[in-house]
Amino acid sequence: MKGLGASPGIAIAKAYVKTARIKIEKMMAENSEAELAKLFQAIEKSKEQLDEIKKITESKIGVDEALIFEAHAMILEDPDLVDKIVDKIKTDGVCASWAVREAADELAQLFQDIEDDYIKERVLDLRDVSMRLIENILGLKGFDLSSVIEPAIIIAEELTPSDMSRISSDKVLGIITETGGATSHTAIMSRVMGLPAIVGAVGLLNAAKHDDVLIMNGGTGEFYINPEAEILQRFEDEKNLQQEQQQALQSYIGVKTSTADGIEISVGCNIGSPKDLEAVLKNDGEGIGLFRSEFLYMDRSAMPTEEEQFVAYKAAAEAMAGKPVIIRTLDIGGDKQLAYMNFPKEDNPFLGYRAIRYCLEEREIFRIQLRAMLRASAFGNIKIMLPMISGVDEVKEARLELQRSMGELDNRQLNYNKNIELGIMIETPSAAIISDKLAEEVDFFSIGTNDLTQYTLAVDRMNSKISHLYTPYHPAVLRLIKLVADNAKRAGIWIGMCGEAAQDELLVPIFVGMGLDELSVSPPQVLKIRKLINGLNKRDMEQHVKNIMKLSNAESIFEYIKT
Ligand code: PEP
Ligand code: MG
Repeated sequence: MKGLGASPGIAIAKAYVKTARIKIEKMMAENSEAELAKLFQAIEKSKEQLDEIKKITESKIGVDEALIFEAHAMILEDPDLVDKIVDKIKTDGVCASWAVREAADELAQLFQDIEDDYIKERVLDLRDVSMRLIENILGLKGFDLSSVIEPAIIIAEELTPSDMSRISSDKVLGIITETGGATSHTAIMSRVMGLPAIVGAVGLLNAAKHDDVLIMNGGTGEFYINPEAEILQRFEDEKNLQQEQQQALQSYIGVKTSTADGIEISVGCNIGSPKDLEAVLKNDGEGIGLFRSEFLYMDRSAMPTEEEQFVAYKAAAEAMAGKPVIIRTLDIGGDKQLAYMNFPKEDNPFLGYRAIRYCLEEREIFRIQLRAMLRASAFGNIKIMLPMISGVDEVKEARLELQRSMGELDNRQLNYNKNIELGIMIETPSAAIISDKLAEEVDFFSIGTNDLTQYTLAVDRMNSKISHLYTPYHPAVLRLIKLVADNAKRAGIWIGMCGEAAQDELLVPIFVGMGLDELSVSPPQVLKIRKLINGLNKRDMEQHVKNIMKLSNAESIFEYIKT
């Protein structure tokens, strides 16, 4: 079978199914007493599981983050829910799993109708807990990525960024999902973690079941269920070859990234949390080109405090020892949601209330983050980057907030870098088009090709149905990148790229030809990109850029570069 290769690498392991879509049938119970017994056993089992997860979370992540599981356990003791379920089993004579489903749905409906955002939020928790209860009634294996204890490839309809942030065990060897695009945040996180991943694997859950043996190639998107010995051997060989290639790249550690004609380019890393710093150091990243700070806000029950953020940013600054650390302000919304934040449901979340738009509305949240970043700037080379900028006013407003935050730290007599650089992501077509004006306002640009591609081409980056249309090779995207690079050069500011295209081996030579100063990639890709750049001649690449700019579609550009 085949999906979309989302994170390279070969994995061979048993399937672990995320059972998000269990079909629950309405069945009448033969024996209501037996159903009641099943229900109470399942409630006890669920409480034990939640207690266990709470302990694991406390020790691995933090006490605050573990609170959510305590809240879940309390739901299981709530008479509003339990009495309703019991009543349905006794009076309607239905089976326990159906009774739970109905009771939870009815309660959820009640919550939805109450004009209180906090209560509305509890619906998510209620659904989560009732699903756990149903799984335990039916004897199904529940889903919690932190509790995978044997080597496994996770298969699921979808995995959320929050699911991903829960993968803390080295037992998860790969992931395959039915939905999602290669630049969905789930895919991006798997690349940072060096975890093989395939997305858009249509029909996966019908074909594979729990404990089937799977082999997957996250580079090509190919995977097999219970493969024959011959195929297994082919994958084993390929895996060995990849390991040898990775080994050979080790000689690039400590080497400068510089083209054959002497143009130095910095190859930095994209990270989501201080946990990823180890991989950056191991792969000799030349800085952090993008710290997606929003992941610090996920999988918890409340916003991280100024102190918690400060600790995380300081850890990055110190680990990188003077090399640049570009921290992006909260880029929430789109496919990155926070369970505890009251985001209204939107028809077009990627075009909606997200990122800088949210921060300029929720000023206090923004200020807390700016203060944490500023304080960390006393410990290393921190730069601040704003996401989803679409006009000059947003930058001016954000800069005012930065100045206010500096004033507050002055009052508190805390140290920070008074000359901290402020840059922006160029990820909307409007920002690219007016990049000459934006360049007057900021210290640097970093091109976010993931969003720039989706907005320029009007192709949702999450939608696997139209993923064939989603390509940064499209001349419209490449022309915009060239325009931004030219405007940055003219204004004398530096320009980098932190979208996934920065690690595309075919596009990197083009970006070098366009004059980009920095490329930020997932840690496991650093050495490969360094080797590639060191073999290029910038002059030659400039000529190729000229030729490519004349081509009219993605396919001809792809063919040109390939040959
Ligand atoms: C991008 O849009 O290219 C980017 C780097 O940001 P994100 O993928 O987090 O949206
Ligand atoms: Mg983006």
